[in-house]
Amino acid sequence: MSQKFDRIVVVGGGSAGWMTAVALATGLQGRASIELVESEEIGIVGVGEATFPSIRVFNQHVGIDEADFLRATNGTYKLGIRFCDWQAKGQDYFHTFGHFGNLSGSQTLWAQHRRMGLPESLEGQCIPSVMAAKGRFVRPADPGHFTYAYHFDAALYAEFVSKLAIGRGVRHTQGRIVEVLRREDGDVSGLLLADGRRIEGDLFVDCSGFRSLLLGQTLQEPYVDFSHWLPVDGAWACPSERVGEEITPYTRATALEGGWAWRIPLQTRTGHGHVFASRFVDEDAARRQLMAQLDGPAIGEPRLIRFKTGHRQRLWVNNVVAIGLSSGFLEPLESTSIFLIQDGIARLMKALELQRPLNESDVALFNEGSARRFARIRDFIILHYCLTRRRDSELWRYVAGMELPQTLAFKIELWRRYGVLHEYDEECFDQTSWLAVHTGMGHWPEREDPVIAEIAQERALRALAGRRQGIAAMVEGMPLHHQTLQQVLR
Ligand SMILES: Cc1cc2nc3c(=O)[nH]c(=O)nc-3n(C[C@H](O)[C@H](O)[C@H](O)COP(=O)(O)OP(=O)(O)OC[C@H]3O[C@@H](n4cnc5c(N)ncnc54)[C@H](O)[C@@H]3O)c2cc1C
Repeated sequence: MSQKFDRIVVVGGGSAGWMTAVALATGLQGRASIELVESEEIGIVGVGEATFPSIRVFNQHVGIDEADFLRATNGTYKLGIRFCDWQAKGQDYFHTFGHFGNLSGSQTLWAQHRRMGLPESLEGQCIPSVMAAKGRFVRPADPGHFTYAYHFDAALYAEFVSKLAIGRGVRHTQGRIVEVLRREDGDVSGLLLADGRRIEGDLFVDCSGFRSLLLGQTLQEPYVDFSHWLPVDGAWACPSERVGEEITPYTRATALEGGWAWRIPLQTRTGHGHVFASRFVDEDAARRQLMAQLDGPAIGEPRLIRFKTGHRQRLWVNNVVAIGLSSGFLEPLESTSIFLIQDGIARLMKALELQRPLNESDVALFNEGSARRFARIRDFIILHYCLTRRRDSELWRYVAGMELPQTLAFKIELWRRYGVLHEYDEECFDQTSWLAVHTGMGHWPEREDPVIAEIAQERALRALAGRRQGIAAMVEGMPLHHQTLQQVLR
């Protein structure tokens, strides 16, 4: 691998490609030339409308103004995800971007709540969960209160970011790559386009989507297959017209016979999709089930996308680094793909900013960290499935009985036996997220920690009721989500 990265070529103009290009242009400030190649003929995957709060960090880092961004991308605010019918039909819970008070010691909020056997949901103790239930949204006055993310049109976001990147000196080349040229040492030396042009570079960032043109097809890097645990392998996507004025400030994920359906509200339409496992439900039935979920009249025909959950074993091989779908895909249940794009960019920038030549250990660290990140998110997503009490179809019987990755089995055991929310390195989701899913799925520790009884029952009850009432009163005074949006967009 060359030690000099004066010419960086980004292959692909979807969200991964343009986010990488703008971040490199912003971070490297002219220390390398950056060229992005994409093919209009091939196009982009064009789905991916829900995000995780880290997107705000990225936007701020590259200097994106929130109101401009929301205007340009048909964007709305997101406070978390409402999961319907996952534990059992008719039961739902909210995965919040907020928190549930203390997580340790005698004042551990969830444990006191549990000890009192309170009939109301723990969600009443969390500001954004109550906001979501009431359809309200304001940006937090104090960032410590809660955080938030967005829903947006992924194609519009790529277009928006492309303008920024080009403004910062990224060269934009349209053309279909028909051959990837290699040097004797295995490095990629250039790309041959269909019209005969050649593009040369020192470092190639593969953002070519599911094709994985450089890392997968050319360098033949093996795929680590997660489909044993995450058996979904297809999705039907179809937006619908928006019905009514109100816009829910959250994503909805509804468990179905052989998968689950997403509902993502944008300003002018609602994104719908059905992620399904073809082993358990056939394609046509999955399509029909999606169409039955739409809020309003469909916009266009449903589109089918195929995938396999997992990731490339190494994301950086020779002088090729894969970011986005070309590096892997974990299914969209927790909206983590754009987070993984950011994660890849951050690791790449860190390597490029080293004040010494890169060596094999730097690349090995990049690869090991990235693989662990995929595994951590994989475990969190599996948690949503494996705790189910549903046994009404093949998919649910399968996921309830499947053998779990050891890392996840250990975490579940710690929670069940001791009420401990263990964290590994490279976690993407913190203890609050794990708590939200465990408790939302009705999965509580078997025993009470004796330290919890240090607080008198009456005092604990008063504290819980006070917090719940305080949150309810605060949320009551907030504007509805669409009102806040109108104000920001104005
Ligand atoms: C069903 C589904 C739902 C999803 N939902 C979410 C979600 O809610 N939230 C989220 O964060 N993510 C989601 N994602 C993931 C999200 O869509 C992607 O992470 C994101 O769009 C980035 O895609 P990409 O840029 O890697 O690939 P693409 O958008 O596919 O871009 C690939 C690019 O490579 C170019 N290319 C490929 N081959 C060639 C060639 N030979 N020559 C020239 N150019 C070439 C194409 O032209 C294109 O520009 C979802 C994905 C799927 C499949």
